[in-house]
Amino acid sequence: MKIRVLGCAGMVSTDSKTSAFLINDRVLLDGGTICSSLTHDEIKPLKHIFISHPHFDHIKGLPTLAENLVFMQEKGPVTIYGSEHTLNSIRQHLMNGIIWPDFSVLPSEDAPILKYCRIDEGVAVHVEGLSVTPIFLCQNFTDFGYLIDDGKSTLLYTSDIGSDSKLTIKGTVPDSMIIEISFPNEKEELALQTGHLTPLLMIDMIQKLTVQPRNIFVSHIKSYFRDQIIAEVQALGIPNLVILNDGDILNI
Ligand SMILES: [Zn+2]
Repeated sequence: MKIRVLGCAGMVSTDSKTSAFLINDRVLLDGGTICSSLTHDEIKPLKHIFISHPHFDHIKGLPTLAENLVFMQEKGPVTIYGSEHTLNSIRQHLMNGIIWPDFSVLPSEDAPILKYCRIDEGVAVHVEGLSVTPIFLCQNFTDFGYLIDDGKSTLLYTSDIGSDSKLTIKGTVPDSMIIEISFPNEKEELALQTGHLTPLLMIDMIQKLTVQPRNIFVSHIKSYFRDQIIAEVQALGIPNLVILNDGDILNI
């Protein structure tokens, strides 16, 4: 499986872009960064986008993607998948005809450029040779992580997981896992308040899992604290852990 990291930061700055992971050049996990990282030729094969939750840093690339697709005269639709809560949030608060046009009825109701598809926990979606299974991440059962299987390898994408997550891995043991660390250890209270992890909270989370992935990739670092977080992660001495950078290409 090829994973191209379009963005993996927990905030926007001159040198950091927010969450979006392109799988096998065709399927996107989260939509925080799209057109600022992909050329128009690279956008064309992209027809399926799975959103973990509706926070702005995970969806902010969607409106400008829709605009580019219309100008490119691409045939739709690009399908956006997520929980009912996630899709309703995007429709009501982002592409609602006020903040941005509703591209699920444009350029025409008969041939829109975007389509929304509600998916359910544990029910796999099969697209582009991938099996994508939504997994509940949080206690109110609205946010999804995704287990992606291309027949050769498996990836567990846990997005913004938070230390109160009840994530459990059933069945397939993922080869690799993307997990977030947003704040340094000294900001643990802020991490807990905002549903994010520090290096020490991340270790707790990994140890709670009944199975251990072979590779652990760290994303969502708030770039303001990047050097501090990297030093704290390195001090943990976890041999199979890699800190992701925007633009990375992984083959797992
Ligand atoms: Zn986020």
